[in-house]
Parts: sequence; structure tokens; C-alpha cells
Amino acid sequence: MIRLSRHGRMRVVLSRILWPVLFGGGLLGTGLALSSDHPLVWFNVTYVAAAAVIAVIERWMPHEEVWLRSDRETVDDLAHTLLNKGLVQIGAAIASSLSMVAATVVEPALRTPASPWPGDWPLAAQVLLGLVIAELGLYVAHRSAHESRFLWRFHALHHSVRRLWVLNTGRFHVVDSLFKIALSQTPLYLLGAPLPVFLWISAITAFTGLLTHCNIDLRTGPLDFIVSTPALHRWHHSKVLAEGNRNYGENLVLWDRLLGTYYNPARRPPTDIGIDGRIAPGFLRQLVQPFTADGVRAIFQVLPEPARPSRDAVRSTD
Ligand SMILES: [Zn+2]
Ligand SMILES: [Zn+2]
Repeated sequence: MIRLSRHGRMRVVLSRILWPVLFGGGLLGTGLALSSDHPLVWFNVTYVAAAAVIAVIERWMPHEEVWLRSDRETVDDLAHTLLNKGLVQIGAAIASSLSMVAATVVEPALRTPASPWPGDWPLAAQVLLGLVIAELGLYVAHRSAHESRFLWRFHALHHSVRRLWVLNTGRFHVVDSLFKIALSQTPLYLLGAPLPVFLWISAITAFTGLLTHCNIDLRTGPLDFIVSTPALHRWHHSKVLAEGNRNYGENLVLWDRLLGTYYNPARRPPTDIGIDGRIAPGFLRQLVQPFTADGVRAIFQVLPEPARPSRDAVRSTD
């Protein structure tokens, strides 16, 4: 029987409790932020603090030692994160500032007696219902991004990383992000979900995302059957298509389990992750790449066509 040192025992305990502790801490911070006078500011403080704590723990108890090495993509990862989060938060700020207008003008106009949203449920139950509905949109968007050649050109950026760590959580092409937001949030708007439900779902998605990409040695056990954990998401970044085209869930694994894409084998996920295609270096070139013929060819690893002999040259060989 192997006896663990005190440090070893503490590490085992931490690996089991850190996911719920960090996620719970994020939600607690969100609750305090939403009840403050400056919800967006305090939400961002909570988010950055959670990311910083995760980054420190990654160095102390990494899942993959080799993923601690720089991939020279940190600046690009940060730039994509700021662009995506910035757009989402501008949207949230506009929605918040318009909430009075929405409450007094738009909602009464939209809320017919047949409005199906159960607004009289406790907020936690409404958020859970909203999460299940939004997750179906996220699932459809994510799975389509893997199965459609048109959409993969945007999603490939996220999968081009050679290591997983907290900072590449937000490395998404902005078109990819907007597509996911549209598919996940439109059904909630149509059903008449109130603003707090959107804010809580955004917060839950933000903290789950930080944790699914973190490089901390976590044992999530039973959670792997309910929520999207790093253990599941590491398979999603596999180079092997049969492993990578699985676990599309962003927060919950419900739709993966119902639609046959859940993958959780009892072995270690691959260390060597990424894609075969080539992603341009630099934030701006990465944004433009899916819109240019050469960029798309690089993403799909299509070699340039060999120069064809001109008609004259063909004739001359007759
Ligand atoms: Zn993906
Ligand atoms: Zn990912």
C-alpha cells in the first residue's frame, strides 16, 4: 500500500473539492455583484480574480506539466477573450439599461396570456430551466461548428491550441461566439425569460468555461455525468476525430448523453492536442483568416493547386 505524504494527501483532497469550490466561489461573487450598484464591474472583478486563482493553482498542481510551457499565443488568447467578453458585456449593459423600458413597454406588449415562461417559479428554478434550453442551442451550435465545413473555419481557432489552460478559455473567433450566443439566447427571448435568467446563465457559462479549460489536476468523478468538466473537455480537444467530435456540452452534458455524443472512457485524455490545419499567427490575421481563400485552404490543410500549364503550352505538346 502506497502511503501519501501530507502534501500528497492535501493534493488529493484539493483535486476533489476544487471544482465545486471554485465554481461555487464564482457564483457567490456573481450573486454579490448582481445585488451591488455596479454589477458589471463587480462581476468582472470576480471573473478576473477566479482566473488568477486558477492560474496560480495550475502552476502548483498541473494536470499536464508540459502544458505549463508557453505556446506564444497568450497575447492572441487575451485579445480574443477581450473582444468576445467585451461584445457580450456591451450587450448586457445595453440590456440592463433598457430593462426599465423592457419592463414597462416591451414585456407587457410581448407577454400574452399564452406566454409560456414560468415567471412565478423561484429564480433558481427559472435559471435551471433556462440553462437546459440554452444548452440545447449551445450544443447545436457547437456540433454544427464541428460538422459543417463552413462553420469549422471559425471554430478551428479554438481547437488550434496545443495546450489547455485558463487563458485560452476565451479563444474563440468572434463569429463563432456570436453564432453560439444567437442559438442559445434566441429561444429564451422568444419564451419571455427575464433579464436575471440571462445574466445568471452568462455567469454560469463563464465560470464553467474557465474550469473546463484549466490545467489543474482535478478529479470530478460524479460531476462528469452532469456538467462539462475538464476531464470531458480534454477529450473534446483530442486530435483523433472519434474523440474530438464528442462532449459538445458547454455547461451540462444532458444533450450529449441524450444525443449519443457523450464520451468519458476510463483512460487519460491525450496530451498532444490541436488540429492538422494551420492557423495564422497574430490576433488580426486570425480574425481575417476564415474570410480569405488562402486562409480557408490553410485551415483545411489544402495544398495550393499546382500551376497548370497554359493552353499554349498544352497545345505545343500535341
Ligand atoms: Zn469544439
Ligand atoms: Zn475548448
